[in-house]
Amino acid sequence: MTDNYEAVIGIETHIELKTESKIFCSCSASYGGEPNTQVCPICMGYPGALPTLNEKVVKYAVMAGIALNCDIASYSKLDRKNYFYPDLPKAYQISQYELPLCRGGYINIGGRRIGINRIHIEEDAGKLFHEVDGKTLIDFNRCGVPLIEIVSEPDIRTPEEAGGYVSGLREIMLFLGISDVRMNEGSLRADVNVSVHKPGESYGTKVEIKNINSIRFIEKAVRYEISRQVSVLESGEVISPETRRYNEKNSTTELMRSKENLSDYRYFPEPDLPPIILASDYIENIRRSIPQLPDKVRKRYISDYGITEDLAYRITVSPGLCAFFDKAAECLDSKNDVTVLCNLILAAGDGIENADPKQTAITAKLVSDGTISSASAKKLLCELKTENIDVLSAVESRNLSLIHGDELKKYVADAVDDDKAAVESIRSGKDKAIKKLIGAVMAASGGRADAEEAEKMIREFIFRQD
Ligand SMILES: [Zn+2]
Repeated sequence: MTDNYEAVIGIETHIELKTESKIFCSCSASYGGEPNTQVCPICMGYPGALPTLNEKVVKYAVMAGIALNCDIASYSKLDRKNYFYPDLPKAYQISQYELPLCRGGYINIGGRRIGINRIHIEEDAGKLFHEVDGKTLIDFNRCGVPLIEIVSEPDIRTPEEAGGYVSGLREIMLFLGISDVRMNEGSLRADVNVSVHKPGESYGTKVEIKNINSIRFIEKAVRYEISRQVSVLESGEVISPETRRYNEKNSTTELMRSKENLSDYRYFPEPDLPPIILASDYIENIRRSIPQLPDKVRKRYISDYGITEDLAYRITVSPGLCAFFDKAAECLDSKNDVTVLCNLILAAGDGIENADPKQTAITAKLVSDGTISSASAKKLLCELKTENIDVLSAVESRNLSLIHGDELKKYVADAVDDDKAAVESIRSGKDKAIKKLIGAVMAASGGRADAEEAEKMIREFIFRQD
């Protein structure tokens, strides 16, 4: 049924910036403090308290704007968005309305360009905790934590693209180093607008799903919402403009409230803060400081190191891992060695970026030239995470070198002599039995036999005797 409809999706993403202090006061902006300990008269909205803008917030927002190909405004201003809610003690949020800091960018997701309408800065609200006994507790620590809101154009078409868009934004913010983007801690939250219409007809009424906190949930919420709206329309009813929430227990969306209009917020210019005026030098300096972003890093890895696209994606999960991989790869000179390095790093898992890059490269080289097994290499890398061992001496002192050539031949000859049944099986075409012989060689050599070479030798032995 959904096949006869097209979906139009736009996403507002709220990202908490990783600054030390809050956006308008000197309270700590860190996550996880004892409730209501990181507050002051300014972020609590006491009468007479005056805000001062944190320059780092502007810098980080400009970085995000440049990374997302936006125009950066040389003149922007702050506005008050007025509404009452218990988590907002001032009864207004300082945000940006008519003149945001950044406008008109884009991000490429899976070969499609998704437009960015705007990026503005604003303050976060406090956090409500609804207790089981019906009481609600409030933690004001989050009041005044700096946010950027990134508003996409309604260019997204599918649930997968919605997830891909947010995960693309997340990756860029991580590489810029301006946010932790931890969706489980709420430092990245998405409001998703969904409407459906028949091809050729005008866009349908949009419904907003608020505060979705995982990429998987975004995809599920959009998928459910598309099918819900299509069945409403198919049954001859109309979609009402409303705000819904995602229910992760049954993967559906449910009504929160009917939609408020922008005019309900009575935006007006913030009288306590001057406009933000940015010199072109300031913006250009920031532009020059932007690190290489994941898309470019992947392209470089594929062209310079010859690794596959899949490996490139798996390495570019964090700037720290990329920096480590770059340093280690620089110590190697063949593309094959770098691919071995890449696989070893991924096998070694979390924390590998703490290892010594040079020793890691040496380990990869030893695997690549057949001196040690991947299994031994993985063990060495896991040790390197926490201590700086010398890999070459460890290989020697622990006797890790693989057994090759004539030495290996002895083990193979013994294994073939000792298991006539396996040999007969292989001769009669039951090739699986070769595993048994390799296993015997491995056991006899204390796991140091080169498995590939052993297999070749076993075949030579068996078929030479014919
Ligand atoms: Zn404060």
